Amino acid sequence: MYDLIIIGGGPGGLTAGIYAGRANLKTLVIEKDLPGGQMQNTLEIDNYPGFQRTTGAELSDSMYRHMLEFETEWKQAEVKSVELTEKIKTVYLTNGDSVSAKALIIASGAQPRKLNVPGEQEFAGRGVSYCATCDGAFFRGKNVVVVGGGDSAVEEGIFLTRFALSVSIVHRRNQLRAAPILQAKAFANDKLNFIWDSVVEEIIGDNKVTQVKIKNVKTNDVQLLNSDGIFIYVGFLPNTNYLKGIDILNEAGYIETDENMATRKPGVFAVGDVRNTNLRQIITAAGDGALAAVSAYHYIDSL
Ligand code: NAP
Repeated sequence: MYDLIIIGGGPGGLTAGIYAGRANLKTLVIEKDLPGGQMQNTLEIDNYPGFQRTTGAELSDSMYRHMLEFETEWKQAEVKSVELTEKIKTVYLTNGDSVSAKALIIASGAQPRKLNVPGEQEFAGRGVSYCATCDGAFFRGKNVVVVGGGDSAVEEGIFLTRFALSVSIVHRRNQLRAAPILQAKAFANDKLNFIWDSVVEEIIGDNKVTQVKIKNVKTNDVQLLNSDGIFIYVGFLPNTNYLKGIDILNEAGYIETDENMATRKPGVFAVGDVRNTNLRQIITAAGDGALAAVSAYHYIDSL
C-alpha cells in the first residue's frame, strides 16, 4: 500500500513525484509511455524558466531523473479504472494488477482531438500525423497541410518549414487563435501560407496521402490540394475515460478542482492538462503538481 499514487508521468505528474518524495510519502507514478508525456514530443521548448532553449526529450529526462533521486517509484503500465472508498484508492491496470494508496493525484493529460473526416483513420501514419516533431523529417522537400489556428498549429507549422517545400495552414476562421508572437513569426515565413475560412472534408490517397479536400465555409467552394501529408492540431481531449462513473468531471470531460488541486472526492487531486484550467503549459502543469503533492501530504497527515 502506497501513501500516494500519481496517474501520469508528464510534467505535472513528475513534479508531484518530486514534491511527494521530498515529503517522504511512499509514492508510485504510473505512466503508460515514456516519462514526460506530451512534452516528450515537443522538439524545442523556449518558455520553461531557467532553460532558454531545451528539447522536450531533455527536459523530460531531467525531470524524471530528478524525481527518482527522491525515491518516488515509477511503473510503466496503463490504468483501466479507479475505485474509491473513503480511506483507500485502488487503481486497476490493464495487465490485471492493482495498486492502492491513501491518496491519488490524476495527471493523465490530454490527447490530440481528431477531425473525424474520411481518410483520417485510413491514412494515419501514412501521411496523417498529430506530431510534427515525430514525423516532420519524413516530409523533406514535400508539400504539407496543417489544420488549426491555435498555438500548436502555428508553432508546428513553423517547425515543418524546416523540412517541407511548402506548408499550408487551413483554419476554419479568418483569424488565428495563436499568440501574437507566433503569428508574427508565421506571417514572416515565406514557406507558410494560410487558407482561411476553410475546413478539411476528406483526406485522399492511394498508399499514402496525396490530396486534401478543403471547403470554404463562406463560399462553399471545394478545392483539392495536392499534399503529401496533413498535420492535425485542432485541440486536445482529456484522458479521463478510465474515470467514467467517478463524479469529478465537467461536461467536457475535464476534472474540476479547487485552488489546492483537490477534486470533489476527498484525497483525490488533479493536475495539468487533464484539469479544468485556463492555461495548459509545462510550467503550469509543474506548478499544479507541486501544489497537489503538498495538498496530498496534508490530506494523508490528517487521516
Ligand atoms: P487550441 O488552442 O484549442 O486551438 C485549437 C485550434 O483548432 C483552434 O484554432 C480551433 O479553431 C481549431 N479547431 C478546433 N476544432 C476544430 C475542428 N473540428 N475543425 C477545424 N478546426 C478546429 O489548441 P492548441 O493549439 O493545441 O493549444 C492547446 C493549449 O496548449 C493552449 O492552451 C495553447 O496555448 C497551449 N500551447 C502553448 C504553446 C506555447 O506556449 N508555445 C504551444 C502549443 C500549445 P477556433 O480558433 O475557430 O476555435
